[in-house]
Amino acid sequence: MSTVEPVRDRERAGPPLDVAALRAQFPVLHQQVNGYPLVYLDNAASCQKPEAVIEAEAACYREYYANIHRGVHALSQRCTTAFEGAREKVQRFLNAERDGEIVFLRGTTEAINLVAHSYVEPLLQPGDEILISYLEHHSNIVPWQMVCERTGAELRVIPVQDNGELDLEAFQALLSDRTRFLSVGHVSNALGTVNPVRWMIEQAHARDIPVLLDGAQAVPHGPVDVRELDCDFYAFSGHKLYGPTGVGVLYGRHDLLKGMRPWQGGGDMIRTVSFEKTLYAEPPARFEAGTPNIAGAIALGAAVDWVQAVGLEAIAAHEARLLDYATERLGALEGVRLLGTAPDKAAVLSFVMDEAHPHDIGTILDQQGVAIRTGHHCAEPVMKRFNVPATARASFAAYNTEAEVDALVEGVEKVRELFG
Ligand code: PLP
Repeated sequence: MSTVEPVRDRERAGPPLDVAALRAQFPVLHQQVNGYPLVYLDNAASCQKPEAVIEAEAACYREYYANIHRGVHALSQRCTTAFEGAREKVQRFLNAERDGEIVFLRGTTEAINLVAHSYVEPLLQPGDEILISYLEHHSNIVPWQMVCERTGAELRVIPVQDNGELDLEAFQALLSDRTRFLSVGHVSNALGTVNPVRWMIEQAHARDIPVLLDGAQAVPHGPVDVRELDCDFYAFSGHKLYGPTGVGVLYGRHDLLKGMRPWQGGGDMIRTVSFEKTLYAEPPARFEAGTPNIAGAIALGAAVDWVQAVGLEAIAAHEARLLDYATERLGALEGVRLLGTAPDKAAVLSFVMDEAHPHDIGTILDQQGVAIRTGHHCAEPVMKRFNVPATARASFAAYNTEAEVDALVEGVEKVRELFG
């Protein structure tokens, strides 16, 4: 399996995962919250970090930290080697052709903004169209609205069906001679829907429309191969992949990155500077102005090593089993409605209750040590589409267990008792 495959098609009996051994590697999980063992089910917002990642970042500061790239001294060279080594790890992780296709940024949000500014905006004329979907996170909506405001282009939106799947007939009808770019989520953060992105890319490419995939919710849940997907850009955040906050990745096809205008100006993104004319560096340096999150990128490399050692197939299979179990148990509770029942889902369970507001659900669960997210999940159009102000969202990672799903269900039953 070389891309995030639908849960439906995943081997639920795939490689086994020694969850107890995994959990032992996450210090934060071993604590009581409000007198109960912590049950952390807010992984789609940000997941916890294993010792290997914490140690990689600490070791950088403890043992060899210095600014990178231009230093002739030993520490600078060692730190540069570790930083560029992390880039190579990400390259192999995504199966990109070369390490120069990996740009280190702050996260998915920054990656999408960079593509909007440096690749898409110069292509646009008034009346041109950018296509996104109803399922997008705000970070894959607002940058495009801003570009449209600046250029007179228009935003088009692929509708979503009642079960949370994209309306693919409408998608095909929306692809037109005016479509200049498709930017779509690989996996929805609000509902967990896995979009059929490989097929969507084929459809777009048949019309020479380049495609960005927002992979923030995909990379932690299954292998991603950018060459097999044939996407032009792919964005993800380190903090959702067991890595640190403040660092993320834009993969861009080399020929596209090479033709892109710089974004921020400053140190490290130049070849030469004079007051008459500045020449810019080749990508990826061209898009990495200023001192980057050095230790964060190195720790992201450690996170990539960690998920690969655990095995993304094993993680996907484990999470698929958990999702099945949680869907069955929560779905059986009276007064609980699951949102997003697409057959192809990854690790996210959004729900509402007849009597209780999601905020109350989250608060009562917290009193029992269960951490979930409540609100619009930075996807207000999805909430509007399903006619709810907010949802309660439980989301799974490799270290979650069936017993934790039981704790979630018990917590929800308590909410029913209190509000029913
Ligand atoms: N895209 C999706 C699908 C997300 O779930 C998120 C974060 O929740 C983002 C983009 C934004 O990621 P970040 O805040 O790390 O830039």
